[in-house]
Amino acid sequence: MIQENLNNINKKITETCLKMAIDPKNVVLINVSKTKPLSLLEEGYAAGMRIFGENKVQEICDKYEQFKKDDIQWHMIGHLQRNKVKYIVDKVALIHSVDSYRLAETISKEAKKKNVVAHILIQVNVAQEDSKYGLETAEVMDMVKSIHQLEHLKIEGLMTIAPFVENAEENRPIFKAMYQLSVDIKEQNLDNVSMDVLSMGMTNDFTVAIEEGATMIRIGTALFGERNY
Ligand SMILES: *Cc1c(COP(=O)(O)O)cnc(C)c1O
Repeated sequence: MIQENLNNINKKITETCLKMAIDPKNVVLINVSKTKPLSLLEEGYAAGMRIFGENKVQEICDKYEQFKKDDIQWHMIGHLQRNKVKYIVDKVALIHSVDSYRLAETISKEAKKKNVVAHILIQVNVAQEDSKYGLETAEVMDMVKSIHQLEHLKIEGLMTIAPFVENAEENRPIFKAMYQLSVDIKEQNLDNVSMDVLSMGMTNDFTVAIEEGATMIRIGTALFGERNY
């Protein structure tokens, strides 16, 4: 089942990229495996998945221990509390959800202790939904200018969770705004800031996100099925 789901998603990614003259290699699929048992991750791995997205520190730690492969990456995509940074800073390839200076500072400190460089994205709440974490668009530039000076950190780009909508077109302006923001930041040429990553688009809206410049899409439901909490 997962193989078929993955094939379908990959086909849609390729079609969208072809239409937009984007190299499909520039769109990275994050397989969002949160709440799913190891057996499904194993099945995903056999189908070719190598990057898994999780939103809970405890779950990343458990799966990291139980699902050891040399060639996989874990991505932290959920809200991260400062007191839990130490458990994952040397386990994850990318933290998508940095939304405050204090969190970035803690990540920097813990990365230094473990002698690693932490790769991070700044989470933006473009739609200004009260229910979502993330900085307001207007705050992002100043925040990047502060955070980039911290050691043992590299800001790879931006992330957003767009609202849940029936018609993905409704999220197009949000993705456009994210792209523009990343261009504006890139133009500043700040040390340790690349803006190569734009993490946006989920099961319901990923093709629109790719059309507007997403370089990472995070898909759960369409690959692993509905989540039962
Ligand atoms: C759960 C989750 C996803 C995946 O959402 P689907 O709609 O199931 O594809 C993507 N990003 C984040 C941050 C999530 O928490």
